[in-house]
Amino acid sequence: MDAADCIFCKIVKGEIPCAKLYEDELTLAFLDIAPVAPGHALVIPKAHHPDLFALPVELGAALLAAQQRVGRAVMAAMGATGLNVQQNNAQSAGQMVFHAHYHLIPRREGDGLAL
Ligand code: 5GP
Ligand code: ZN
Repeated sequence: MDAADCIFCKIVKGEIPCAKLYEDELTLAFLDIAPVAPGHALVIPKAHHPDLFALPVELGAALLAAQQRVGRAVMAAMGATGLNVQQNNAQSAGQMVFHAHYHLIPRREGDGLAL
């Protein structure tokens, strides 16, 4: 799949709406459309890179900073005590959208999620 058909590129361009949480020059964060827990967020690079292995290393700091900022915010908003960061690569690993992204999933004691 190239960038023209990519649903997350369409979100970056504003062609598909999203519940935006954070944005800077290089990254975007928004709520997952099918959350596994309240506050489930996605952090993505604005540029199209299909998976972790295609990400330029130089983008790493910006993506980590966005994960920290958004992770803190969704934890505070949800009253969460923990956070899972999940990142899937290839269909066999559960990747469905082939534009690299990080799942940020707020957690609480006894919430019953098996991740
Ligand atoms: P993956 O399985 O590729 O790691 O995760 C893709 C995620 O993107 C899924 O959790 C799915 O719910 C989410 N998703 C797919 N399409 C859309 C969309 O159009 N908008 C939003 N906000 N999330 C989406
Ligand atoms: Zn894309």
